[in-house]
Amino acid sequence: MTIAISSSNWLTGWTTAPAIVMVPKPEAPPSLTSDASEPTTEPQTAELTITTPTPTATPLPPPVATPVRQPTPDGVARTAKVPILMYHYLSDPPPQADSIRKDLSVDPALFAAQLERMQAEGYTTISLYDLVAYLTQGTPLPPKPVIITFDDGYRDSYENAFPLLQAHGMQATFFIITDFIDAKEPEYLSWEMVRAMYAGGMSIESHSRNHVSLRGRDKDYLIWQALGSAETIKAEIGVAPRFICYPAGQYDQNVIDIFKSANYWAGITTKQGATQASNDLFELDRIRVRGTTTPDQLSRLLALDW
Ligand SMILES: [Zn+2]
Repeated sequence: MTIAISSSNWLTGWTTAPAIVMVPKPEAPPSLTSDASEPTTEPQTAELTITTPTPTATPLPPPVATPVRQPTPDGVARTAKVPILMYHYLSDPPPQADSIRKDLSVDPALFAAQLERMQAEGYTTISLYDLVAYLTQGTPLPPKPVIITFDDGYRDSYENAFPLLQAHGMQATFFIITDFIDAKEPEYLSWEMVRAMYAGGMSIESHSRNHVSLRGRDKDYLIWQALGSAETIKAEIGVAPRFICYPAGQYDQNVIDIFKSANYWAGITTKQGATQASNDLFELDRIRVRGTTTPDQLSRLLALDW
């Protein structure tokens, strides 16, 4: 099934609930596009046990309700240096892992050291909602803001990242692939885990339905990705996502236009940099954190003016 909008002028934006009709459409092919930077390898383990994280320090306060309405831009052009860190796996790679998987894997102990370095240097984790509120309306940000993001929704996001973030009183955004969770892929999060993370103060946002490249796709297909992932997340955690992290960092103007019209507020790329701009909300930059990134190197990356 796919979701299509019956209104012909839906691209003008939804101030009222659009009429939605369900029309049959073949599911997208299950094969994944080649993706050099973000391999979607076969599950390496079948760890099915759900363990409850046990924070060792003060947990985050309960999350504030996710804003439903996008802040109305006040017309002021703003830029802000807000590093958005990009993580993938937060676990030691299996022995047979290739170089890409190793590069995408950060050891939990190293992640803890990175968090502690950021805290020692006065960085405060904020959400993408905070960033958009600043860029569109000037809502003040704390000194030295930083946004932590995890792509793909691997199970170690729950098992390793979530408890460490809670233990340090820090927050992060997790970009999830909804079809993989629906399919109960063992390497990925379950919906129970996603709900626990959201209840624990983490942001849950879209990384598409199935992690194929969105570049060069037609309108119907992009609507299927944008609305499909949003409806699923809303059904599972109660709020719709407002941010799309482009699979493999691939997008085009059509992708931006469709997701914007589907009530997303911003798009997150893999372009390296830390300066975010109000007139580029659908092309936010990030900083890749590698398995070899020491706290010293992370400190230098965060301090770079780029
Ligand atoms: Zn990805």
